[in-house]
Amino acid sequence: MVSDQERVYLSIGSNMPPRVQNIQQALAMLRALPDVNVCDESHWYETEPWGNREQPNFYNVSVALTTTLSPDDLLAALHTIEQALHRERLVHWGPRTIDLDIIFWGARRMQTDTLTIPHVQAGNRNFVLLPTEEITQNDSLVGPQVQALLAANQDQSWIKKVRNVSELDD
Ligand code: ADP
Ligand code: MG
Repeated sequence: MVSDQERVYLSIGSNMPPRVQNIQQALAMLRALPDVNVCDESHWYETEPWGNREQPNFYNVSVALTTTLSPDDLLAALHTIEQALHRERLVHWGPRTIDLDIIFWGARRMQTDTLTIPHVQAGNRNFVLLPTEEITQNDSLVGPQVQALLAANQDQSWIKKVRNVSELDD
């Protein structure tokens, strides 16, 4: 069934140990937010660092959620999770314990000093597009946006689906 409910998609990533635990804790904290309902989660992927290649590989996952929060309030909640997981902003596109980005919010388009939706770089990143594609198949608002970005996508970086998260080392 194709749904027209407005879903929000996040991309979550980590490339500083303990990567698996960082992502699992971020997912748990997201699910615990009172105004957020996480409704789908993609496979996890091991991915080549994008932008600055001289850093460890990432694990990335995309999630779908519905929320009564405003975009600014959701972003603030994501920053709180990042801070709890000791995210430090040292190097642009550099190593991080955790990164939570808002990628799509239904058909919405917005741009402020602090928040751009869809995410500015979404269309240039395999590690965002491919996991997100998995969970947007039945989303009539976001699915077509992902397909259009995939059709134009030039990213050459590798991305490998994780079959069993419990077998990952950090
Ligand atoms: P990046 O994710 O680009 O590597 P950061 O996580 O440090 O870098 O984010 C920098 C800033 O990007 C955030 O403080 C936030 O205000 C801004 N930003 C703009 N659009 C978005 C978005 N869609 N999702 C998350 N952050 C965003
Ligand atoms: Mg970010």
